[in-house]
Amino acid sequence: MDTFGTPQRVLVRGEGAYVWDADGRRYLDLLAGIAVNALGHGHPTLTAAVSAQLGTLGHVSNFFATPVQVALAERLLNLAVAPEGSRVFFANSGTEANEAALKMSRRNRRPDGSARPRVLALEGAFHGRTMGALSLTSKPQYREPFEPLPGGVEFLPFGDVAALEAAFATDGDLVSALVLEPVQGEAGVRRHPAGYLARARELTAAHGALLVLDEVQTGAGRVGRWFAFQDPEIGEGIVPDVVTLAKGLGGGFPIGAVVAFGERAATLLGRGQHGTTFGGNPVAAAAALATIGVIERDALLAQVRATGDYLRAQVSACGNPLVVGARGVGLLVAVELAAPVAPQVAAAALEAGFVVNAVAPDALRLAPPLILTRDQVDDFVGFLATVPVPTPEELA
Ligand SMILES: *Cc1c(COP(=O)(O)O)cnc(C)c1O
Repeated sequence: MDTFGTPQRVLVRGEGAYVWDADGRRYLDLLAGIAVNALGHGHPTLTAAVSAQLGTLGHVSNFFATPVQVALAERLLNLAVAPEGSRVFFANSGTEANEAALKMSRRNRRPDGSARPRVLALEGAFHGRTMGALSLTSKPQYREPFEPLPGGVEFLPFGDVAALEAAFATDGDLVSALVLEPVQGEAGVRRHPAGYLARARELTAAHGALLVLDEVQTGAGRVGRWFAFQDPEIGEGIVPDVVTLAKGLGGGFPIGAVVAFGERAATLLGRGQHGTTFGGNPVAAAAALATIGVIERDALLAQVRATGDYLRAQVSACGNPLVVGARGVGLLVAVELAAPVAPQVAAAALEAGFVVNAVAPDALRLAPPLILTRDQVDDFVGFLATVPVPTPEELA
């Protein structure tokens, strides 16, 4: 179906941070399949783990448990420093993880058993494309063709603490959940103002609402921490109720996960209230365990922080007046342009051998493999330095 438009290239092979197209041309992959290929392409440890698991036990359904599934759940709870009683639900994608989180929020009843019909989300939010996750996604072009969507969702202006407080001031106890991305990805790599997440935690806790963090894009090492909320500046020391993961978690293999913090969140969905055929299958679990294992073995979290700092500094200093600066955290970065020419610059980048994404009219998103080197950063910054500044006629 034509849902994605015409593909830009046909890619046939990948190795490390590079991919090759059908004509044999090489590209530095600074998008990593949209923040997915944490270890780059063709990583031998990931390939071996997936192959070995598929050759041992590939799929069993959730009528049964497997050692890898249990090991991954325990690993995630450890990395999340989740309290006693915490649990994990496995899905196959980000949108499915958020569907499960939304169903959990519907089960977040008041002490008398009555419903809390309100769900709060933020303007600019992207939480996925299935109907429930879409109800939490703010972009009108994504929503309107599919209305009516599941009800109760209210969108608050981004970064507005007063609006957040106002949303809880009246009927605050009818809010089942506040769902947000620690850093908004699809909205162009936007960080909340200082104090916002801490206040969100206070208000949700005071009113019995779940604080749901969508870490589908920011989690699994992308920002130089296992979870973005663990970054002191981003997370401000909060502990969420629910965190959703996908994208980078399997290093390229499809997997999603919902981490429920503490017994209350972990028991919202009872027996028979949710399900999945593929979710938590052993091959996906093995892929995620291998990805986490390499991130740890190769100390990639610290490397991501250092490479990200270097990348943002070099981009900001590249000397091209078209490039205003760089924002973001770790290896989730937006290159800020002085004019709304991101699609043209992304096309020029592809021609020059760099895969990037025009995430906003005036911003390029970089979400490269976590293994990106400084030399590779320098190659891209060399390109950025020489991108022609569009003339007023070209801009008109
Ligand atoms: C990509 C993304 C999703 C959707 O994930 P899929 O795997 O494409 O369904 C949800 N939330 C955020 C923050 C994302 O970046």
